[in-house]
Amino acid sequence: MAEIDPHIHVERRALRGGPDFRNVMSSVVGRVPDAPSVVATGCGLDVPYAMTSSRPESVTCLACREHACVEYSAFAEQLERLGSWPGMSVTDGQVADAVERLRELAKRFSGRTG
Ligand SMILES: [Zn+2]
Repeated sequence: MAEIDPHIHVERRALRGGPDFRNVMSSVVGRVPDAPSVVATGCGLDVPYAMTSSRPESVTCLACREHACVEYSAFAEQLERLGSWPGMSVTDGQVADAVERLRELAKRFSGRTG
């Protein structure tokens, strides 16, 4: 048996499968993928989905917070450069809104408040 890990982690593929990305995606394209039961974390563990969070304030694993900050920042940049998803009809305003939300999340994961 593995030791019980008290930390709350970030799902490694948060941007592809996590609740926040689902929120972003569902608000933008109206589709929500299914949530998995066990997920890989940003620090390299496999934990129950319930032990992960997409709320920066809830994540207690520092390695995961760093991972999420980098991922969200990178994705925001990518999204901004791309402008839209191929084959999906989203407006510039929706993309800008998603980018802004991703940047805000990245900032919160980094622990910076300004
Ligand atoms: Zn972690």
